[in-house]
Amino acid sequence: MISHTYQRILLKYSGEAVAGDEDQGIDPKVLHFMSKEIKSIVDRGVCVGLVIGGGNLFRGEKLNKDGMDRVAGDHMGMLATVMNGIALRDALERDGIKTRVMSAIPMPGIVEHFDRRIATQLLEAGFVVIFTAGTGNPFFTTDTAACLRGIEIGADLMLKATKVDGVYSDDPNLNKDAEFYPSLTFDDAIDKKLKVMDTTALTLARVNNLKIKVFNFRKEGGLLDIVNGKKLGTLISNG
Ligand code: UDP
Repeated sequence: MISHTYQRILLKYSGEAVAGDEDQGIDPKVLHFMSKEIKSIVDRGVCVGLVIGGGNLFRGEKLNKDGMDRVAGDHMGMLATVMNGIALRDALERDGIKTRVMSAIPMPGIVEHFDRRIATQLLEAGFVVIFTAGTGNPFFTTDTAACLRGIEIGADLMLKATKVDGVYSDDPNLNKDAEFYPSLTFDDAIDKKLKVMDTTALTLARVNNLKIKVFNFRKEGGLLDIVNGKKLGTLISNG
């Protein structure tokens, strides 16, 4: 097996990422691109666990603002992540990648129920395992689920995919003077209130020493460069 800087990763895609340039729905072209990127590291022996969001379809907080009960909205949000996971599995399998989808909420006949030991065994056997339905609980985000699953599978890195090159002091699409941070500590990310991830996710990663890399998922070859230790994106760690 080829030796990489990172041998086991947890990759987190937001729901908006799979929507491509549209705000809603699922763009098959984006799924195909993601699949090619994932294949480039799976073929080199890297173990890949994946968490997918659901914001392209439903978000509990937004539904709640529009008048729906928050828990009902969060249940819809979690179900949305399962739909995205099924779509991503389809794209990966079409590219010849062995893939399984697990859900934190049991859904027999559609996807498997999350089981950490089985997930770890599948990863070691070369399967990509997509973890869906977040943590299975309302009031959490899929970023928190990504940190949780990353810790559970013993990932050496959690990779959070974004549409910009990493973490900035401000939105680089709106402010050309926004400062890029090549690295940050968890304390910095929390204290500076940078909109990179919610505090629950950052705190969970900090306490369990799970390193996070925020990177631009649209850059071709980016995933392979990162697992090979190239200095792309922003690394968040305990310093
Ligand atoms: N969600 C939840 N519990 C979890 C993870 C997600 O209730 O553990 C719900 C929540 O309503 C959230 C939605 O699922 O808004 C979609 O997840 P998220 O907003 O994290 O998706 P992303 O922003 O990554 O697309």
